[in-house]
Amino acid sequence: MKVAKFGGSSVASAEQIKKVAAIVSEDSERKIVVVSAPGKRDSSDTKVTDLLIHLGETHLEAGDTEEALEAVVERYASIAEGLGLGQGIIATIEADLRERLSFDRSRPGSFMDLIKASGEDNNAKLIAAYLQSVGLPARYVNPKDAGLLVSDEPGNAQVLPEAYDHLKKLRNTDEIIVFPGFFGYSKEGTLVTFPRGGSDITGSILAAGVEADLYENFTDVDSVFAANPNVVSEPVKIKKMTYREMRELSYAGFSVFHDEALIPAFRKGIPVCVKNTNNPSSSGTMIIAEREYFLNPVIGIAADEGFSTIYVRKYLMNREVGFGRRLLQIIEDEGLSYEHIPSGIDDTSVILRQCQLTPEIEERIVERIRVELGADDVYIEKDFAMIMIVGEGMHNTVGVSARMTAALARANVNIEMINQGSSEVSLVIGIHEKDTDRAVRELYAEFFGAAVEVVQ
Ligand code: ASP
Repeated sequence: MKVAKFGGSSVASAEQIKKVAAIVSEDSERKIVVVSAPGKRDSSDTKVTDLLIHLGETHLEAGDTEEALEAVVERYASIAEGLGLGQGIIATIEADLRERLSFDRSRPGSFMDLIKASGEDNNAKLIAAYLQSVGLPARYVNPKDAGLLVSDEPGNAQVLPEAYDHLKKLRNTDEIIVFPGFFGYSKEGTLVTFPRGGSDITGSILAAGVEADLYENFTDVDSVFAANPNVVSEPVKIKKMTYREMRELSYAGFSVFHDEALIPAFRKGIPVCVKNTNNPSSSGTMIIAEREYFLNPVIGIAADEGFSTIYVRKYLMNREVGFGRRLLQIIEDEGLSYEHIPSGIDDTSVILRQCQLTPEIEERIVERIRVELGADDVYIEKDFAMIMIVGEGMHNTVGVSARMTAALARANVNIEMINQGSSEVSLVIGIHEKDTDRAVRELYAEFFGAAVEVVQ
């Protein structure tokens, strides 16, 4: 049995949904179909989830919601028309949206989740109706009825362990189950969404719950590439990679697969396959537990921007018991999460995502570190990028770092920080954002052969 998840661009229009139906009907093992909300039809389009966020926010600000509501209904109407579904289903979707808008707004996060999740929920109903209309035995299943239980953290749900037992019951299905991605329900019955892009997480949880033989993740590219195709023209396609490699690469900007989505499938040892809805005969990328590493120690190069570092220097820091804990306590008190802490003997830097900082938070942190920790120097620097060189083969290959630093020297890129985790599955380099693309291209050329710059 296979769980097939179709992302936003795969369900963005009637034409795309027809491709989904063809893919589902050609393999009788595709029993569970997880769908996103309609995504972008072209680069200038707006995702339905973003239209819904606008709708929800307008309502919270007590604005006039008619135009925003129309924009959402209009997207579904054009899909339904293209699929020959008639107007009945659109009236139902519109009524559903109006009902959601009338719900309690005292917890704005939960209210927003309810509105956002309608994108997936209504699309699943619409796609189930279409599959039925072309003669496939399809049935919409709601995450509440299926027992997809999650923590009550609006916009940031985590699956609860008991959900897997409930979902297992879906295994005995004769029909094709169409399941909306992106949300579950708390034990109290509140709808809660996963982080953005979270339909991948739903698919992985379902694959683990029903113990599928394969989790297929359909998107709009033939495979995962060794570097960002917007930076390096026609990068190498990755045919096989491990869960850990995918996790590291998706953390650092490989948006093809949500970085939290692998864990459920990985724990149950379910292989994941990234495939293209627009070219389903292409074999895609298989994500598995182990692979052979002899060909190239490096599998991919990722880059992510928007990092800040809090630099702290204090003479004899290495001798001061509890310094690190007290420093991190200050970070924790501000509710911030950090990414790396490279350290010297008298200095350390805490690297975190810049979007978490405000001028007030920065001022408080710097002041507390100076006063409470008695630091000799403390300041915050911005606009760093993290480049990640990933590959399980680096573990037993001599010279990867040497090749990396030589490549960066050739590109005239200054290295601000180097961090290699003890697993040696990735090497992280902090550089200035202005150098990101140049660094990625030169590193790609070093590990994969010539890199051609993408002309936009
Ligand atoms: N529709 C949601 C988003 O745009 C979830 C998803 O597509 O995976 O983030």
